[in-house]
Amino acid sequence: MGKKFISDYYEHYKPFNQFTVIGLETQDLFELSNGRSYHVRIDRFCSDKEGNYYICDYKTNNQLKAQEELDEDRQLAMYSLWVKQKHPDAKSVKLMWYFLAFDKEMISERSDEQLLKLQAETEALIDEVEKCVEFPVEVSNLCGWCRFQHLCPAFKHKFEVEELPEEKFKDNDGIKLVEEFAVLDKQEKEAAAQKEIVREKLIKFSQQKDVSVIWGTEHKVSVRTMDKIEYPKTEEFEKLLRIKGYDVFTINYSKFLSKILKREVDTDVLAQIKTSQTWMVKVGKK
Ligand code: SF4
Repeated sequence: MGKKFISDYYEHYKPFNQFTVIGLETQDLFELSNGRSYHVRIDRFCSDKEGNYYICDYKTNNQLKAQEELDEDRQLAMYSLWVKQKHPDAKSVKLMWYFLAFDKEMISERSDEQLLKLQAETEALIDEVEKCVEFPVEVSNLCGWCRFQHLCPAFKHKFEVEELPEEKFKDNDGIKLVEEFAVLDKQEKEAAAQKEIVREKLIKFSQQKDVSVIWGTEHKVSVRTMDKIEYPKTEEFEKLLRIKGYDVFTINYSKFLSKILKREVDTDVLAQIKTSQTWMVKVGKK
């Protein structure tokens, strides 16, 4: 994919004489109010001969963004405040995204009024973040870029054990418990899969032998069919029950289900309900 993105991009823009490149992966800070600053890191920063400036961002997403989404994008728009401050001669500042998987460029631009509003909103957001006293853990793909992993409850144990000398590493309680739990979890899953196979065999056995209880040395297993009732767990269904005179808050569901089986329920309600047969396989002592 990487090769294709680069060769498509190269074929599209060669000989690369549309713009003059002013910076790549810029490193600067745009000063906001109260001593705060916004990190400006532009993939490619360029200008053309007419005095327009371009903030270019490269995307490898496998989905194109909608124009409205780009017109609402904060990151590149904030960079244009920095460009306007550094280059007051700018005729315009265009935000440009290259969606490499589609060999497509998309552009957005902000008015001065929009940018002032965005700056105020961003500063308010910083205020909100700084006032936070609780920081619930939200593990996501972004954690890989997080500089606070060593403090974060989701990662700090990893840092603690990585620093341990080899002889202490294996004795760490956390490590031992994790490995023990992983083994038990695997055994539990394997046992559940094996249990399902044996359950199916018991059902077959009871059908072939026409028996409802199968006797072992210390245990016995009863095998019988039972009715399975499924009704929609939706607001519409609750509404229908109410219309038909059932009080959904006080309804006795076991009585209701037995009425369904006896087909003593209103036909419109019955039409929404699926009934089928399932097997009940229970083990007990002899
Ligand atoms: S690693 Fe960083 S981003 Fe991820 S949950 Fe922890 S604090 Fe949040």
